[in-house]
Amino acid sequence: MITRTLQSIAAMCGGELSPGSAADAEATGVVTDSRKITPGCLFVPLVGDSFDGHDYSESALKVGAAATLWTRNKGAAPQGNAVLVDDTLDALQRLASAYLKEVAPRVVAVTGSNGKTTTKDIITALLETRFKVHKTQGNFNNHIGLPLTVLSMAANTEIAVLEMGMSSRGEISLLSSLAQPDTAVITNVGESHLLQLGSRKEIARAKLEIAEGLKPGGLLIYNGDEPLLAEVMGEPGFAAPEDLRTFRFGLGTGNDDYPTGIMAHESGTTFTSSLHGEHVFTLPLPGRHNVVNSLAAMAVASHYGVNEVEMAAGLGRLKLTGMRIELIHASSGLTLLNDAYNASPTSMKAAIDVLQSMKGAGAKIAVLGDMLELGPDEAAFHAEVGAYLDPEKVDLVFAYGPLSAHLAEAAALRFGPDRVYAFTDKSEMTDLLLKKTDPKDIVLFKASRGMRLEESLQRLHAHF
Ligand code: ATP
Ligand code: MG
Repeated sequence: MITRTLQSIAAMCGGELSPGSAADAEATGVVTDSRKITPGCLFVPLVGDSFDGHDYSESALKVGAAATLWTRNKGAAPQGNAVLVDDTLDALQRLASAYLKEVAPRVVAVTGSNGKTTTKDIITALLETRFKVHKTQGNFNNHIGLPLTVLSMAANTEIAVLEMGMSSRGEISLLSSLAQPDTAVITNVGESHLLQLGSRKEIARAKLEIAEGLKPGGLLIYNGDEPLLAEVMGEPGFAAPEDLRTFRFGLGTGNDDYPTGIMAHESGTTFTSSLHGEHVFTLPLPGRHNVVNSLAAMAVASHYGVNEVEMAAGLGRLKLTGMRIELIHASSGLTLLNDAYNASPTSMKAAIDVLQSMKGAGAKIAVLGDMLELGPDEAAFHAEVGAYLDPEKVDLVFAYGPLSAHLAEAAALRFGPDRVYAFTDKSEMTDLLLKKTDPKDIVLFKASRGMRLEESLQRLHAHF
């Protein structure tokens, strides 16, 4: 993580030391949460709708922060070391940008509606076979998380893999201009944030903002199965660096790399791809969508000179961020698929594909909750997922939440009414689920974060 004198920090973030501050004192690491102060850190007080970090600067210094940033118009800085700035968020971003330029790793940026975190984790696993890699921890992918990710990077980092998230236009543009990636990845265009953005095309435009900060000659690796991306790249408003290079991955055979064989097995998926011929890769994850995520990651790895043997080894050592279609074997034998981390129609269908392709002696049960923030067509999206469920491959459907009533209704058209249950009360649903489940079964849980569907999973897990 960053270690600099206060004088350097002031220069890097465009601020100045408060009178009496020790210019030569060093700060190590940057913290924005006053409850997580580490000895010798720089405390950055951010201002939110319901809180003002400046209220905590003084106590941060008392418990061991080396210095605090301080906004000039907030009056006198507290006793101790302070760097005066006009705006602490802007200063945080400038500090990160300056630190990134000094450490000068190559930068890989990852955006997309679904699969950013998974793809970031796969890219890292492949690159780590050769390089010292720093990646976004958890979901620190926004205008605050990304600078903090950069500032926590070791000084000897060779490649930084940065996740970029967004909920409206302009956000990826800001992150991309801050990070100035050498390589950018767009995993896909889904329906997340349709409410804020209005159309899928507008979502595609927002994702393609990632090209704005790419270095000249940079490489854009994007999902070629999504026609909207190519369409937007043809628009006059599309901003890309000189000599932009592109690479398309996806299921379609028109892509630069596409899967040529996919086999699901108990502990994951084995696949081959058009670009890597005879090489067989084993991914410790279920689902065709994760093969597609892997192709994106392999394109990044190839670009940095990682060969197929190293890639195969890297895939074997993959470490994922939790709750993305996690396979859990309960002690009774029951199989749980925990994908309760988030949901959109695209990722819902991907998870249903995984459940439907799994082999087991018992029943397959889909427990699906509301997908939030989908905008005016939310009912239709839920019905679409309900209709996507295959009554030959899934035995029971549990739908939880008011929107999921539409999902249940559409599913019941093919499943019949006695294999589909709709609930608005989570504990009532879980009560019935406990009765209907047998240790030989496979149960998938998926919903938007806000539905907290993992509570139902945890009860089932505790019971079996
Ligand atoms: P967030 O916006 O919350 O940061 P993310 O883009 O980082 O999400 P992941 O956390 O990797 O995405 O995965 C989220 C969900 O999307 C998971 O439920 C996963 O199963 C599903 N998913 C992952 N990759 C794909 C893909 N390529 N296509 C469709 N669904 C996917
Ligand atoms: Mg993520």
